[in-house]
Formats: sequence, C-alpha cells, structure tokens
Amino acid sequence: MNSADVIVIGGGFAGVIAARDLSNAGHSVILLEGRDRLGGRTWSRRFEGYSQQLEMGGTWIAPTKQKFVAAELSRYGIGTHQSPAAEDFGWAIDDEIKREPFPIPATQWPDFEVAISRINADAARIRFYEEPLGQDGLDDLDIPFSTYVEDLKAPRITSEFLLAWPTFYFGAYPQNLSALHVLSWVAGFGSASGWYTLLTDKVLGGTKNLVDHIIADSQTDVRLDNPVQSIHAVGERTQVTTRYGDVFESRAVVMATPINTWDNIDVQPPLDGSHAAMAQEKQAGESVKIWALVRGLERNFFGVGWHTRIKWMATEYTTDEGSYLVGFASAAADLNPHDKDDITRAVHEFLPNVEVIAVDSHDWNRDEFSEGTWMAYRPGQVMAHSHGLQESHGRIAFANSDIASGWAGWIDGAIESGIQAAETVKKWLIS
Ligand SMILES: Cc1cc2nc3c(=O)[nH]c(=O)nc-3n(C[C@H](O)[C@H](O)[C@H](O)COP(=O)(O)OP(=O)(O)OC[C@H]3O[C@@H](n4cnc5c(N)ncnc54)[C@H](O)[C@@H]3O)c2cc1C
Repeated sequence: MNSADVIVIGGGFAGVIAARDLSNAGHSVILLEGRDRLGGRTWSRRFEGYSQQLEMGGTWIAPTKQKFVAAELSRYGIGTHQSPAAEDFGWAIDDEIKREPFPIPATQWPDFEVAISRINADAARIRFYEEPLGQDGLDDLDIPFSTYVEDLKAPRITSEFLLAWPTFYFGAYPQNLSALHVLSWVAGFGSASGWYTLLTDKVLGGTKNLVDHIIADSQTDVRLDNPVQSIHAVGERTQVTTRYGDVFESRAVVMATPINTWDNIDVQPPLDGSHAAMAQEKQAGESVKIWALVRGLERNFFGVGWHTRIKWMATEYTTDEGSYLVGFASAAADLNPHDKDDITRAVHEFLPNVEVIAVDSHDWNRDEFSEGTWMAYRPGQVMAHSHGLQESHGRIAFANSDIASGWAGWIDGAIESGIQAAETVKKWLIS
C-alpha cells in the first residue's frame, strides 16, 4: 500500500500547482499521472522528423491580463518570447479571401462599432476573476453564441467576423458555445478590440520549462504511467486504485483531470450535482490544432476564416526547412489531424500556392486523457454548473482549467484552480 496525506490525480498545470503548494505546506503528496509525461494539455515537443521545437497544445499567454500565469513566470524568473508579426493577411469571410489587414468595409464601420459597444457593455457586467462565471443576473447571456450574434443584427461581413473569432478561440461551433463564456474572455482582455488583437506571448523554453520548474520546486512523489481507475471513500480515508491494480491511500484527493474524462473514473460515493451532470454532458471544446511545414511562403501569414475549415492560421517559425504554419479548426469533423492530404487541402483554402512538405498534430479529441481540447461551456452550462463545479465531493477537491473562475480554458485558469484546490485541502488537513 502506498500512502500520503494527499493524492493528486493528473499532472497538468492544475495538478502540479496543487501538488507544489500542498507539498510546500508540509504535506506528503503523491501525484498519479496517466501519461508518460507531465504537462497534460500542454506538450512541448519537436515537429515529427524535424528539429523545430513546437507546442502541440496550450501555447500563448497574456501576462498583462492573466495574473496567475504572470506570477508563476515571475516566481521562476522565466521570460516570454513572441510569435512573429503578421505581414500578409487572409480573411475568409463573405465567401472570399480578403487579403487586407482588416476585412470590414468602411460602410459597415458604424454597425461594427454598435456591435462592439454592445459586446463590451455585456462583458462589463461580468465580475471577472472574482467568483465563478455563473453570477447573478447573467442568465440572458448564457445562450448560444450564434443567437447572440444574430441578435446584434449586424450586416453579413461584420457578423461573420464576430462569429469567426470565437469559433477558433474556443474550438467549438457557435451554436454549441455559451455567449457568456465568450464574453468572459472579452472581460478578461478588457475590451472586444483587445480580444481581437493577436496574442503573441509564449513561455520561454516552452510550456514544459514552466511545468518542470513548478514540480521541481516541491517534494512531490511523481508517478507517471499510472492511470487512475477508481477513487473510493473508505471511512476517513480515500483509496485510489490504478488501472494496473496498485492501491494508494490518502486523507484527501485532488482530482486534476479534465471534465470530459471524469466518467472514466469510478468515484464512490458517486459524483452528484454539477459534477455528475458535466461528466455526462461534457464541455464543447473540440478544436483541431495542426502544424504544417510549407515552402513558397515569402511573408509571415495571418488568416482568420468563417467559411474555411481552418478557422485561424499563422506563420509561427521560419527556418531553412521552410515556414511552420500553425492552424486551428473548430472540430474534428472539419479536419482530420492525421491526414496530410486533408490538412494540405485546408491550408490551400487560404494559401493555394504553398507546397506542404510535412504535417504534425496531436489528436486531443481521441486521447483518452483529454477527450477534447480546452473549456468551452455549452449554452446553459455556465449558470447551471460553474458554481457547483468548484465545490468539493467528500474529501475530493477538483482542480482544472475547465472549472476556473477567470480564464476557464487557459493555462492561467489551470493555475488559478490548482491554487484554490490546494487551499481547500490545506484546511481539511489541519482540522
Ligand atoms: C490544442 C490546444 C491548444 C491550446 N492553446 C492554448 C493557448 O494557446 N493558451 C492557453 O492558455 N491555453 C491553451 N490551451 C488550454 C490549456 O492547455 C489547458 O486549459 C490547460 O493546460 C489545462 O490544464 P489542466 O491541468 O486543467 O488539465 P490537463 O492539462 O488536461 O491536465 C490533466 C492531467 O490529468 C491526466 N489524466 C487524465 N485522466 C487521468 C487518469 N484517469 N489518471 C491519471 N491521470 C489522468 C492527464 O494526462 C493530464 O496530464 C490549449 C489546449 C489545447 C489542447
């Protein structure tokens, strides 16, 4: 029998932060991770067959707006580096590719301004970071983002522009996505125009660099390749059993696994309330992130699309091997992450003349340890569940970006949630 004060299940950002904070508070911690690496939905590795270092998952951060990730970078003296500035544009809206920096014609600027003012006013109703997103009086916003945009009654190009961004940003179709969740990111960025501005900051040395610093700053006993199968309350203690039959025992558990995988773990007594509901309903994020090594691209490209299969695509690195493009589709149905021909066709929708040399991707949607990408609340889920998701279940505290109050869906949200879970467990352990 392996025993510790706390067992943390899952070694993404939320799990390693919770483990560090509990370990540094003097508690013994075992972290059980199903994969053969830490980092979860962030994963720094090389482009398959080439030397270029990439991020297969979470990448960009906004340290001036995201206080939790900023604090961790500062704690470990880690800087940021930038994605390149765009030089060539492609806006796939209004059934064509517009090759200008801003696609909305001057005749629609008044409509655009009205729409943006309304978005900013609705976002200003959210008390960002202060409490879970389902705050009193916001029910009217927890509707499909497609309906919200329809209600703005903007002309077609403006509407497509407004729809294209969240479809990429959340990796979900707008009818499956809560407008309230979208507006929370507007609130976080401070304005809708800030929201449309490119995010360019990345963690120096890759996300793995930050994960490695966090876990090294603790006495956590990390066990990789240990997928957890069950969590059973046994009297005052909790028994955690892995797929291979190893049993671990602790006074408390931090369940730091993604919502979409919760129903893979047998919890006794069973999850109830919002935890049970979300384990069944799941969140909507199903983005497909792809990398393509191309030749024939002379300037740094940046494209956003509504009618294209890739919804956002940009040059990320230029080397002797060629240009590395990174792109996102909103769903697996739109793009096969393993099919070079399919990805090539999708890249050619924006850039018909480039030669695609090689492609690389990770299928997060079919990965048993994520079963989706990042948090995208479905319509109605925010008001129904965002508070309940942060509650504990017996001596199980939950931690992951999906349930954060602020940047749910981001690395920052994972860190926020890991800190909160550690605070909850510390109180249990001293009582
Ligand atoms: C393609 C992609 C692009 C993204 N882009 C960005 C971005 O640019 N910026 C940004 O801030 N965020 C981005 N995100 C989101 C961000 O990466 C995540 O929100 C964040 O990393 C989640 O951290 P977490 O700790 O909450 O969950 P996870 O990182 O998913 O960690 C959960 C851990 O639990 C483990 N686990 C699951 N089941 C079990 C089990 N049964 N037993 C043991 N272990 C288990 C998993 O292996 C994993 O390590 C992106 C995500 C993806 C997938």
